[in-house]
Amino acid sequence: MNSTEIRVRFAPSPTGPLHIGGVRTALYNYLFARKHNGKIILRIEDTDQTRFVPGSEKYIIESLNWCGIEFDEGVHLGGPFGPYRQSERTAIYRQYVAILLENNYAYYAFDTAEELEAKRKEAEELKAPPFQYDNKTRGNLRNSLSLPKNEVKKLLEAGTSYVVRIKIPENEIVVLHDLIRGVVEVDSNLLDDKVLFKSDGLPTYHLANVVDDYLMKISHVIRGEEWLPSAPLHVLLYRYLGWEDVMPQFSHLPLLLKPDGKGKLSKRDGDRLGFPVFPLQWKDPVSNEISSGYRESGYLPEAFINMLAMLGWNPGTEQEIFSMNELIDAFSIERVSKSGAKYDSDKAKWYNHKYIQTKPDEELFTLLQPYISEKEDLKVDENIFLKILPHIKERANLIPDLLVQSEYFFVRPKRYDEQLIKKRWKPETIPALLEIIPLIENCTNPEANELSLLIKSYIENNQLNMGSVMLPLRIALVGSATGPDLFFIMEILGIKESVERIRNVIAFVEQ
Ligand code: GLU
Repeated sequence: MNSTEIRVRFAPSPTGPLHIGGVRTALYNYLFARKHNGKIILRIEDTDQTRFVPGSEKYIIESLNWCGIEFDEGVHLGGPFGPYRQSERTAIYRQYVAILLENNYAYYAFDTAEELEAKRKEAEELKAPPFQYDNKTRGNLRNSLSLPKNEVKKLLEAGTSYVVRIKIPENEIVVLHDLIRGVVEVDSNLLDDKVLFKSDGLPTYHLANVVDDYLMKISHVIRGEEWLPSAPLHVLLYRYLGWEDVMPQFSHLPLLLKPDGKGKLSKRDGDRLGFPVFPLQWKDPVSNEISSGYRESGYLPEAFINMLAMLGWNPGTEQEIFSMNELIDAFSIERVSKSGAKYDSDKAKWYNHKYIQTKPDEELFTLLQPYISEKEDLKVDENIFLKILPHIKERANLIPDLLVQSEYFFVRPKRYDEQLIKKRWKPETIPALLEIIPLIENCTNPEANELSLLIKSYIENNQLNMGSVMLPLRIALVGSATGPDLFFIMEILGIKESVERIRNVIAFVEQ
């Protein structure tokens, strides 16, 4: 491996299902890696045991797989820089904490949770700025900077619980070059002395993340905007560990925003407005609550990915439809926008609609199977379905729409649109339907054109109103006023079944 190789990572924490914002982060990392012939790594950041949710790692891998985001190394693939799960790397982090402590870039802090809580309360009561463990307060707290050396030694020997905190320098402007945001400068006096190593013997995200990015030779860190406030701390860690010259380049991606109003897109927005915020369906292991997924809702991964790619990035042209390979060709980090991208569920459906139109019919039939099996007793003949598909595809945004649009070909209407019957049923309707029955029964070549000629000339010859016959016929066959050409429906159903349905609607109206 040469040192200029592009290596990126997607580093989710297994704290639940992967939000679509996370999928987009993975996607941009993937596009960037492939574009530059680099490598992409999947690393699981599971150092926060309190937030661990069983099943999420498997979910994350399955989701990324469904999306077609392929990795070169990772927790599921192995590779030369493993292990790729942070909980299996604890011994590694300990070494680096020791180095930081030795060089006085970090210190032991013995303050108990209660003591810190009291400080917070005190600040609140005094209406002072919120309490922060930092270069102004650390002198008055219980740590290895403020306590005499021998007392620190005693505390450590007695096995007193401690955390290790970074010693943030005073009065320094920490500078960060972000590929999306340009130069970001932060006054070190505003930063707090974050915990690097916890009392449970595990590192925090900050330390583990920097150590692993270094050891895994990550060249570019592409992650969500929510990590921008942590980036100056990470810059300092690279410096303190002597890795400044190999520090990755940072890119902080814009947030995905609610479709309405301000703020980050949340699961609640999805529930409220009726769209999934997770790639796959997720069952919460504790509450058993089910959250919907794009896959189960009938989105195609290609459409989902195309839609996500455009949320926060644009190619600089009018082109909207991109295959994964086209995205790889067109992608550049510089064209990722700084400002948040509003999620648009109509646009998501629009993409899916477009991709359904170009999917081979046989594949659509296969994709429809789970929805067919959900319906008891529904048998869908493949040959018939493939004949129908070109006539209904245009009406489908989601895969199950294909079934909604074709179900009446396979089962008789269970309900009729009664409003419409009331409005459109004329005194001449039933007599006309009764006369049409023998006409079509005697038709020797019952295909759509022939049936159309036959019925239309019957209506004209009897000076009937088209609407008072054709619409009732449609209601008889379909149950409602929807569907493709009526005579095509009749041809597919066959005369026997069509006649049966006409008799049924007459019986229904007459009862
Ligand atoms: N584990 C962090 C997360 O869950 C990763 C942040 C990063 O990419 O540095 O988002």
